[in-house]
Amino acid sequence: MNLTGWVLNTAAGVTIHAEGKNLPNFYQRILHELPPLAKIYQHSLSETRVLGYETFAIKQSLAREDRQVILSPDVATCQECRAEVFTPGTRREGYAFTNCTNCGPRYTIIFDIPYDRPNTTMGRFPMCPECAAEYHNPADRRFHAQPIACPECGPELVLLDRCSRKLSGIGLAQLKSGNILAVKGLGGFHLACNALDKVAVSALRNKKQRESKPFAVMASNIGVVRRYCEVSPLEERLLTSAAAPIVILKTKHDLATLGLPETLAPGLDTLGVMLPYTPLHHLLLADGLDLLVMTSANVSGEPLIFRNAAALSKLSGICDYWLLHNREIYHPCDDSLVRVINNRPVYLRRARGYVPLPLDLGKEFMPAAGIGGDLKNTFCLLKQNNAFVSQHGGDLSNYDNYRQFKREFSSFKRMAACSPQIIGYDLHPEYNSSNYAKVSKDVRAIGVQHHHAHMAACLAENRIDGKVLGAICDGTGYGLDGAIWGFEFLWGDTREFSRVGHLEYLPLPGGDSASRKPDRIAMAYLIHLLGYSDSFKRFLPGLTGEEVDIIKQQVNRGFNTFPTSSCGRLFDAVSALTGICTRVSYEGQAAVELEAHCKYGSTGSYPFEMENVDNELILRVRSLFAALLKDLTEGTGAEQISAKFHNTVGEMILAALKQLGKQLGTNQTAISGGVFQNKYLTEYLVPRLESAGFIVYQHRELPPGDGGLCVGQAVIASEVIKDVYSNSR
Ligand code: ZN
Ligand code: ZN
Ligand code: FE
Repeated sequence: MNLTGWVLNTAAGVTIHAEGKNLPNFYQRILHELPPLAKIYQHSLSETRVLGYETFAIKQSLAREDRQVILSPDVATCQECRAEVFTPGTRREGYAFTNCTNCGPRYTIIFDIPYDRPNTTMGRFPMCPECAAEYHNPADRRFHAQPIACPECGPELVLLDRCSRKLSGIGLAQLKSGNILAVKGLGGFHLACNALDKVAVSALRNKKQRESKPFAVMASNIGVVRRYCEVSPLEERLLTSAAAPIVILKTKHDLATLGLPETLAPGLDTLGVMLPYTPLHHLLLADGLDLLVMTSANVSGEPLIFRNAAALSKLSGICDYWLLHNREIYHPCDDSLVRVINNRPVYLRRARGYVPLPLDLGKEFMPAAGIGGDLKNTFCLLKQNNAFVSQHGGDLSNYDNYRQFKREFSSFKRMAACSPQIIGYDLHPEYNSSNYAKVSKDVRAIGVQHHHAHMAACLAENRIDGKVLGAICDGTGYGLDGAIWGFEFLWGDTREFSRVGHLEYLPLPGGDSASRKPDRIAMAYLIHLLGYSDSFKRFLPGLTGEEVDIIKQQVNRGFNTFPTSSCGRLFDAVSALTGICTRVSYEGQAAVELEAHCKYGSTGSYPFEMENVDNELILRVRSLFAALLKDLTEGTGAEQISAKFHNTVGEMILAALKQLGKQLGTNQTAISGGVFQNKYLTEYLVPRLESAGFIVYQHRELPPGDGGLCVGQAVIASEVIKDVYSNSR
């Protein structure tokens, strides 16, 4: 634009000194013609003296310690790179590690700041002269692209068989003939097979010992996705976004009708679908394969596999071939998982493509960390207005997951240049995450009630300071009275809360293991609420007479049962009674399958009672179960019952919030907890709350489930400490 002057990267951002006639136009273009990945958080313009520069120069940036570090997440392959890979005769034709400034690996390969090639796992690949020329040319798409590579100088693929023999190709022939491939990707290994091949998919399920948890699939393009699933404009935007998450889509028909193996997603009406996000994926899906199963490669309960050696040893019983490469993954990162509910994206798992971008909480916080819970662990660092949330790290009761968590926590602190002295943790006495916080040296650990953390995370994300009514529904959270909470109405803010209502306590037989046996929960609830009747056995035929006797004794004597107000267990019980799910092989299965059976547009709900006891509003479900049994006896279909039950839970929340809102004089509510991953329930509830005059705060980028806990813990810990300091002054 015929301007002179200079540009400089500083601690505060980018400073440009520009002189010339086109200045106003230049300012507008800078703001509006950004490169694909650039984002301007703030900008300002000021006039200065003309110094008469003759050229325009890029000034060398100064390394400063207080640099505000925002690292990029990994970015799906851009159109230009993709085209290059498929253009015959180009330098990068067929090259699986092609990337540029607009795309490619980032967070998964970075081990230290600043983000320069030597601080990434690309440091061991010296650039060839041609790559170096591109790297240093400001006019090139690869100007300062740290992971730049080509077949001459970059990482290489290798295909191995079970005898460690090197084979040629990338495994297309092997996939087509029904084999299972372990494929090293961006954030870890996938197990891949042809998703249309019934035998291959069943073999993968058997070998992975994964009974019914759905497999994610990768489709070659959006047209293929449309062949099988309904895709809304927002869902399409998410699928094709730079983050390229797995999007949970409703299938057009049942899988068998669509010509897909039912074992892809047993018992569900949805499919988790993603599009190719690396050149390697594009190459795997370019030659006749339309749809691949791409499931995270791990041994059940263990962390995602991301190193070649671990893949070779741990997957030898599962896969037939290994497609490896020699670019190391430093931060393992699962695929992110998102579902559109009420026409908003709800993040069920925030990982690859989003981490480590911070959430801007809109105000400054005292530095603090939230350590998360043991299930679906994530942790968070609060620094100024930013919450840096880690990728999903699995179940910390597993030792390898716990080790990985410790490694990631220290590396995250280094990268965010932040080492808080205050850590919020969950009150559950047996959580490894909590113990980690409690024994950390020179750190003040602050216990945070589980559902308060859920609510505070939602408030922080929505930048709400005052008190609101929280409706928090989830599976398991340790309560202040030692009971298992989970269907809670809280009145509070990001500092404190009081419990103003909840589902009545019901007897959960045999502790946590009961959550794997929904029919035992159902039997216990029926006996407790209605008194034992032999007729119950009809509805729960999976239970032996002996089991029923044991549950009867447990409930009647209050022996080895645990009082719970869990919403998740309520779903479990109903799922079992309708015969939809009586044995659970993955977390949330009974509820997820119950939702899958919901008939949309069904009206009607079951009765329930509300009662004020000691300043708490108690929701009672005796009449709910009585009416549900009547429906079952009369032969009402599972689809109808399932919808009616969902409507009932919606009505319970609605009625409780209305009454509590009146008592407390508020019309603001925050909804959080894993239950709000339920599309049917959320879409039933939110519009009704809004018509009743409520302002409803929902999660924006954080998962409603335990993946969002850490932000609430950090925010509460930060505020509590602030209060302690200001009181001591
Ligand atoms: Zn690119
Ligand atoms: Zn090169
Ligand atoms: Fe929870």
